[in-house]
Amino acid sequence: MFFLLSLAAAASATTTWSPDPVVATSDIRLMLNASGEAPRLAIMYGPGHQDIMNRAGESLPRSVEINGANVAITWQHKKELDLLDDPHRAVFVYESAEPHLRLRWEWFARAEFGPIEHRITIENLGDKELWLPMVDSLRLEWKVPPTIELRSFYVEKGADKPSDQGTHLDTMTDGYRWTGASSTYADHSEGAPREIIPAEIVYSPAQPRAGWYAGIEFSGCTRITLERSGKSVRSVLGLNPDPGPFRTRLVPGGSFETPTVFLGAFEGGPDGAGNQLRPWVRAVLGNPLTWKDEHYPLVVNNSWGSGMAIDEPLALRMIAESKELGVEMFHIDAGWFRGVGDWYPDPKKFPHGLAYIADEAHKNGLRFGIWVDWTQAALDTEPGALNVRDPRVRDWLVADVGPDWKPEEFKGQTADVGAPAARDYFRAEVKRIVDDYHLDMLEHDGYLVAQGCVRSDHPHAPPDRSMVVKHEWGSDFVYASNATDVSYHAVRAYYDIYEHTRKEHPGLLFEICNDGGRMVDFGSAAHGDYFSITDTYDPLSNRRAFYDTSFVLPAAMLESYVEKWTTPRIENFLYMLRSGMMGWLTLMLDTSVWTPEQHQAAKDAVALYKSELRPLIRDGRLHHVSPRPDGVHWDGVEYWDPARGKGVVFAFRGSAPGETEHRFVLAGLDARKRYRLHFQDGSAPDRTAPGSELIGPGFPVHLKNPLSSELIFLTSAGGK
Ligand SMILES: [Zn+2]
Repeated sequence: MFFLLSLAAAASATTTWSPDPVVATSDIRLMLNASGEAPRLAIMYGPGHQDIMNRAGESLPRSVEINGANVAITWQHKKELDLLDDPHRAVFVYESAEPHLRLRWEWFARAEFGPIEHRITIENLGDKELWLPMVDSLRLEWKVPPTIELRSFYVEKGADKPSDQGTHLDTMTDGYRWTGASSTYADHSEGAPREIIPAEIVYSPAQPRAGWYAGIEFSGCTRITLERSGKSVRSVLGLNPDPGPFRTRLVPGGSFETPTVFLGAFEGGPDGAGNQLRPWVRAVLGNPLTWKDEHYPLVVNNSWGSGMAIDEPLALRMIAESKELGVEMFHIDAGWFRGVGDWYPDPKKFPHGLAYIADEAHKNGLRFGIWVDWTQAALDTEPGALNVRDPRVRDWLVADVGPDWKPEEFKGQTADVGAPAARDYFRAEVKRIVDDYHLDMLEHDGYLVAQGCVRSDHPHAPPDRSMVVKHEWGSDFVYASNATDVSYHAVRAYYDIYEHTRKEHPGLLFEICNDGGRMVDFGSAAHGDYFSITDTYDPLSNRRAFYDTSFVLPAAMLESYVEKWTTPRIENFLYMLRSGMMGWLTLMLDTSVWTPEQHQAAKDAVALYKSELRPLIRDGRLHHVSPRPDGVHWDGVEYWDPARGKGVVFAFRGSAPGETEHRFVLAGLDARKRYRLHFQDGSAPDRTAPGSELIGPGFPVHLKNPLSSELIFLTSAGGK
């Protein structure tokens, strides 16, 4: 791709002439340099003969604010403190004498393959409180000849409802500029810019479609910028400086850490990047206990099909139906509690409490989980309730509520978990909820991380005059210049609470919902077990959200809720189910109204999911073998697991009346081998086909009816 140095010259540069440390995995090698004023990632080597020079030195903060005055910083490299554990870790240490600060510039490889991570930590070793300006996580300025064509690839969050585009592929001509933002409250109202899952993939469209990717492991307000100008491709990743000006408090003895970022190199276009990144997320960010569980991803039955009407008789009926269907977890959604912020079972609905329901689920071989929006406070006054009028609680809220304020059915006023007293309270409250209700899974929802906060006695920067309080959905959302710093502290507190809870309850699963797909990022991937990827649950929305999200996150972590949908024919019913079966499957409909034929079809589909699909979803390589679903034409995804020699194609036919046939061109197979094709619904007789056909002209799938589907299983059948 970028022939700036030959690989041979680069190799000799590292071994013979240069003492520069190298951090490397089997996919990428980074040469680092500390000879200048600031440390620098000097050269990146990757597959496809990529050797790219980076011209951007790190921009270490030049000043801090102390007692309202700007104080310049002079950084000095403290070589004796450097830690070089070649090729797994390199830490360069810089210090400032006055103010007394220590900065660690760190690169590390936590797996033998995949990307390398980077972060900057700044410690206040002095005795005065000071204020740091924005410190970006990563600044790149690749030297790239203007003649090389480049593409920029990124995906949106499926928050609220996946948009018509979702997956973006931009041509990076001279002058190209792009900014993608991520937060926990993706505002996807009409006209608002869509938030992205915080990752960028940049590559050359010429074979072998090689390039680099980078992403942010943090759930607060972050952004990625990318621009091309002349011989440079610049990218900046880190906390979002908008709205600004950003500043963050550094107390004596305290430290600031930039959100950790990862940088990888790949070939094979976006799926090539994904098939490296997804296993890395599993291996490095994922919860080892979760991935050891062979039932992961689980099949779940969720109560939201009946909305807030959930009660004990319905729960017991759903447990019985779940067992009958082969479902593995019963999940009570909103509606079980006394009130918002009062996370105790409503005694009228659950006279025997929730532990009783959990125990019934366990007796029937099911796991048990619940929905909670645990950062919310409201008006309940019973012991244990978080009441907005309680002076102690009031100071945790992002803003006061008016005298006439009332919560919504399941939304109240948000408490800022970044306030230490609030964090301690919530840590104990989350533990109580998990213990008392015998939980195997905790789903958190709502706006767990505040958008801003008016309090001046919280650790974050105080509010300023640009603060706007907006009333929406029962909550006062605060939009403010301190939003990024509020999110910085709140996210760290949230991670702290979940890390503690995981330690105390090994095997407990965390579902990251956050208003359906708003918190889909690599920081929550490191602290939760699976994501609700969208808040719209029809087959097309489920497939679109999965199509987008699965480029960058493991399919097993991606939950689709399957809601009631009109299914006049059994083919439509299977199409509905399978649209939610490419990752984690959660049923969210009243299964008791199913016809015997639908019931049997669902039971068979769940059994097939568990025995054949789930192993491929967990371990297989994923290929997006169609354009993004539009509901009109055909779409599909392919899984192929080289270790097992097995795969599957999910094929979906859209609504277009005439399109009875579609040809799927597969990927990741060996042209010299043969493969057995098994059409699950019998839409074609089983046959074998050469790999050269499957990855060349492709193979046809016929479906008589619009809005139907087929699963085509692939098995390696040996040589030609
Ligand atoms: Zn606050």
